[in-house]
Amino acid sequence: MDPAPVMDQAPVLALDLGASRLRAALVGPDGTLLARAEARTATERGPAAVLDTAEGLLRAVRGEADAAPRVGEGRAPGGGRLSRVLPPFAIGISAIGPLDPVAGVIVDPPNAHPSFRDVPVSAELSRRLGLPVFLDRDTNVALLGEHAFGTARDVPDVVYLTVSTGIGGAILAAGELLHGPDGTAGELGHLLVELDGQACGCGARGHLEGIASGSGIARAAREAVRAGAAGLLAATADREGIEQLSAVDVAVAEEAGDREAAAIMAHARRAFAAAMVTIVDVFDPTLVVVGGSVARGQGDRLLDPAREAVRSVAFRTPARRVRIVPAALGDDVALIGCLPLVRMRLAVTARDAAATGA
Ligand SMILES: [Zn+2]
Repeated sequence: MDPAPVMDQAPVLALDLGASRLRAALVGPDGTLLARAEARTATERGPAAVLDTAEGLLRAVRGEADAAPRVGEGRAPGGGRLSRVLPPFAIGISAIGPLDPVAGVIVDPPNAHPSFRDVPVSAELSRRLGLPVFLDRDTNVALLGEHAFGTARDVPDVVYLTVSTGIGGAILAAGELLHGPDGTAGELGHLLVELDGQACGCGARGHLEGIASGSGIARAAREAVRAGAAGLLAATADREGIEQLSAVDVAVAEEAGDREAAAIMAHARRAFAAAMVTIVDVFDPTLVVVGGSVARGQGDRLLDPAREAVRSVAFRTPARRVRIVPAALGDDVALIGCLPLVRMRLAVTARDAAATGA
């Protein structure tokens, strides 16, 4: 059977399995969220409990689709129109990595409870819900969302970066996601930007994430206060406790003219700019899309130094082509991206089947 007509007209079930939140949605064929539900991700209760919660959320949003009018002008709780809702034909899952996208297994996410390991998410949810399941890393799914419905629409060579508590990335080369044999290709937070630099959450030194992420900025602020920095950072640490110092506190202190905070933010921006030069030189992208809460908060204060570094230091030919732009889709990108994830993987399956004459 040719899956193309169904893929064009039917919604998919989407699941965003984050370290702290589980979100499910019914995503219409145009990328509209037709229904949604969410719960806490309780990885400390073990994989079975998380899968139970995920199953419940997916059944809830599928149930809303069943209850919707088949023809007419119904309106879903998520705000989308529910006219002629067909049953969903597949499940797309965006999850924390590292994971094996082919086997559909989440391997050993560093931000989850140690018992949450080697979890066969795709096989389990496929068995429980009776639909094919396609899984990929959250940043890969976000890139597919921006590529299908956001700022990277119809651009085949795109690098995606998300700068929030951590830094993640994804690479679309000639219209295909780059995974690598371990599925870790595009983990751009671990680009080396400074020999012997600050420690990264992964244990190594000098990685982009250790310096320019929200957690890296906060750690630099705590270290500055412990080393005797005066000014607004020390005042905030006195008031709220040094462990409560956040990247937002550092950004606010910089805005207020604090020198220590300005130095930390400048260091983070330099690291981000250096990584951008490497990214442009290695991947020759047409577009680099930058999302995440820190990037949203900083805007051009983060992107302009990166653009300038690319102009002045990157290899000339790709530097002339590339544009560095903010992401368009916000927090729902991981859910919206589940639709192009499903479509892309089904297309690959169909292509492989045709090639082998199956
Ligand atoms: Zn690292």
